Amino acid sequence: MLSVWRRKQLTVVYYNGEFHDDAVTLDINDRGYQFGDGVYEVVRVYDGRLFTAREHFERLVRSAGEISIVLELTVDDYIELCQQLIDKNHLVSGNIYIQITRGVAVRNHAFPAGASPVTLMYTYEAARPVEGMQSGVNVITAEDFRWLRCDIKSLNLLANVLNKQKAVEAGAVEAVQIRDGIVTEGASTNVYRIKDGTIYTHPVNHLILNGITRRVIKECADEQSIPFVEEAFDVEQLLSADEVFISSTTLEVTPVRQIDEQIIGEPGPITRKLQQAFEEKIQSGR
Ligand SMILES: *Cc1c(COP(=O)(O)O)cnc(C)c1O
Repeated sequence: MLSVWRRKQLTVVYYNGEFHDDAVTLDINDRGYQFGDGVYEVVRVYDGRLFTAREHFERLVRSAGEISIVLELTVDDYIELCQQLIDKNHLVSGNIYIQITRGVAVRNHAFPAGASPVTLMYTYEAARPVEGMQSGVNVITAEDFRWLRCDIKSLNLLANVLNKQKAVEAGAVEAVQIRDGIVTEGASTNVYRIKDGTIYTHPVNHLILNGITRRVIKECADEQSIPFVEEAFDVEQLLSADEVFISSTTLEVTPVRQIDEQIIGEPGPITRKLQQAFEEKIQSGR
């Protein structure tokens, strides 16, 4: 056992069944390190309140189930623990990171017998992405070379990390990933194009992560009577869109101004309408 990790600020962390307000000792044999063998979530906190927490924890339970990790806690237990962490850390605006690994065992690829899942939860302050939401951001396209279970929010993020880095090196904020000519999603966001008043996004299947923000946006579109079509589209259709935006828990509804060399332009009216509807969801504490 090595004491290898400590938050920069003194924050209360939940680890392995307990709250800690000092350094946490992590086990070097945690399968999260050696295999990325685990799942995670990021939940937004606005004004001291969790946003769409139930959906996030239901997805966490699903992700864990898909890789045969049996969780000891229920969705309600996780929400209660999050609320306690928010209170202990006096978090007003920020995120909660939750990860669950298969457990601690001597390194060997197959599932270890008798290991129990290790849960880590911590909070961090984060401002809303106001500038990007206002002005829009630039993105690049990149090959989607991830595995074929992108529906699992897995700790294995190597392809996402490499594509995001490629974007950053190009002065962009996201890499829109392309598989066989089809736009799937960003390295950490879902991707939408708008054409002639209709929003299009990749259908929910094994090739994308079913974003919680995506679900809220779909709800907003329905309420605003904006057609929301879950249909795959290719790069040419993306580049010739009237409006393009990306979404995630941390980026909310962020307009895209430019993709590679192609200018999309200023944030358009439908993106603005969705941002406004999303804002109302936040205010109503969904
Ligand atoms: C988490 C994530 C998203 C966005 O999901 P939200 O629930 O909206 O935060 C999109 N794509 C990938 C690959 C992700 O990991």
